[in-house]
Formats: sequence, C-alpha cells, structure tokens
Amino acid sequence: AGGLLAGKRGLVLGVANNRSIAWGIARSAAQHGAELAFTYQGDALKKRVEPLAKELNAKVVGHCDVTDPASIDAVFAATADVFPGGIDFVVHCIAFSDKDELTGRYIETSEGNFTKSLLISCYSFTAIAQRAEKIMRDGGSLLTLTYYGAEKWMPHYNVMGVAKAALEASVRYLAADMGPKQIRVNAISAGPIKTLAASGIGDFRYILKWNEYNAPLRRTVTIEEVGETAAYLFSDMSKGVTGEVLHVDAGYHVVGMKHPDAPDI
Ligand code: NAD
Repeated sequence: AGGLLAGKRGLVLGVANNRSIAWGIARSAAQHGAELAFTYQGDALKKRVEPLAKELNAKVVGHCDVTDPASIDAVFAATADVFPGGIDFVVHCIAFSDKDELTGRYIETSEGNFTKSLLISCYSFTAIAQRAEKIMRDGGSLLTLTYYGAEKWMPHYNVMGVAKAALEASVRYLAADMGPKQIRVNAISAGPIKTLAASGIGDFRYILKWNEYNAPLRRTVTIEEVGETAAYLFSDMSKGVTGEVLHVDAGYHVVGMKHPDAPDI
C-alpha cells in the first residue's frame, strides 16, 4: 500500500483501550501505511489490546511492564522476530503515578511514589531507546508523550509534572546521543484528553473546560489529531526534526491568562 508511512514498521507501547492516545497514534500510522506491533501491560489489558491490534492488522508482541527490564527485552526480541529487517519507529505512551498523590500539594509527594513515577514515566523511555537503537535499520524516529505541566505549574499534576520535565530533558539528551545514527527523538505535548490515565488526575473536568474556553482554537484536541502529528514525526517529512517538543494542544501553551470572553467554570 502507498502512503506517507508505506514500508515503515513501528512498535507501539501504551495502548490500554480505544481512548488511549497510543491508539489514536497507531490508527493514524496504520492509515498512512505503516506496519505495527503492539505491547500490552498485563493480562487484563491483553483482552483489550488484541482486538484493537487485529483491526489494524498489527502484531501483538507480548506483555511489557517497564518496571521489569526482562519484559522490555522480551518484547524487543519478539519485535525483531516479527520484523527481521528492523524497525523504523517506536512510540512510548506510558506514565504512572499513585492517584492519591495527583491531588493536593506536590510537597506531600512520598519518596516511594516519586521514584516509581520517574521510573515508569521517564526512565522507561531511555530503557526503550537503548533497545530500539539496536533494531533500527536505517535511521529512525522515537516518540514520547508529554504535557504542559512539565513547563508550568498545573493544579494536581504534581510529581507527574516533575517526571514530564525530566522526560522532556531526556528527549534532548537522547536526540544528541542517537543523532549520528539518524535516529530522531521527539515528544508531543498533548493538550488534556479524557483517557484512563487522565481519570487519575484530580479535577480533570475542570482542566478540560479551562482549555476549551481559553485555548486559541477554543476547544480541546482529539487522539486523532495527536495521531496525525505523530505520523508526521514518524515520516520522512520530519527528517530534519529532532530533540523537539511539539505542542498539539489547540495552542493552549501560548496563553498567559484567562481570556476576558471566557465563561467562568
Ligand atoms: P492511557 O491510560 O490510555 O495510557 C497509559 C498507558 O500507560 C497504559 O496503556 C498503561 O498500560 C501504561 N503503563 C502504565 N504503567 C506502565 C508500566 N509499568 N509498564 C508498561 N506500561 C505502563 O492514557 P493516555 O492519556 O493515553 O496516556 C498516554 C501518555 O500520554 C502518557 O505518557 C500520558 O502522560 C500522556 N499524556 C496524556 C494526556 C491526557 O490528557 N490524556 C496529555 C498529555 C500527555
């Protein structure tokens, strides 16, 4: 099949269900002609991910919990089996923090949850880059997902804001490390979208409304819109782009203050 991503092969980590940003990205990539492999986290999600993978003719390469390095090795080995010629892109849509600490004050963060949140939401991208580098054939594109709470204080985002700031910094360091091999490393900073992970964030409806009323486009974004930007970052159209954090947020990141016409929430 023809298309922007014809002949490209990619690994997608982080599909939980059909609301996942990873699913929006996978669907766009497939529509543009890419061949895909999916991972899932645990048996509960396996049942959700398998039918979704089937819809896109994607392979399922197994369980991956990023806190278990052996499971990361296993899915990369399985990906190399499925795509013996190598892969062209990997997308990391994984984050976690204890829900009880995504509300109230950041200062209350425990050491245990700080460490776990940074491990799952930040270090895992580097762990994945290490494995991806070995099976990318002719350059490649690595992508992760971040949020504006990395750049500015946002209510309830707390330790996740700190983890995303570290993730965005790691995008820059990985871009420099992998650049000589023509492997590009970028992040999409997505506006708020109602997903399973987002439901753990305190008062998420308020954040959605605030964005809808104040973003330049006066609305929130969809997983399809994030998916289309991801397809661009996987494609040769973005061959000169690396180390970038690209906002797909209806322009919200340029706003400094509530719009005078915006209704109260
Ligand atoms: P989601 O719940 O659909 O996806 C989160 C995924 O993380 C799930 O598939 C889950 O299995 C996976 N995950 C969590 N812990 C893991 C572990 N230990 N090992 C392997 N996988 C693990 O939610 P989403 O909103 O699509 O989240 C995807 C990414 O997008 C996250 O990085 C999130 O921070 C980011 N993001 C989300 C929003 C939003 O508003 N939804 C905005 C900006 C960025």
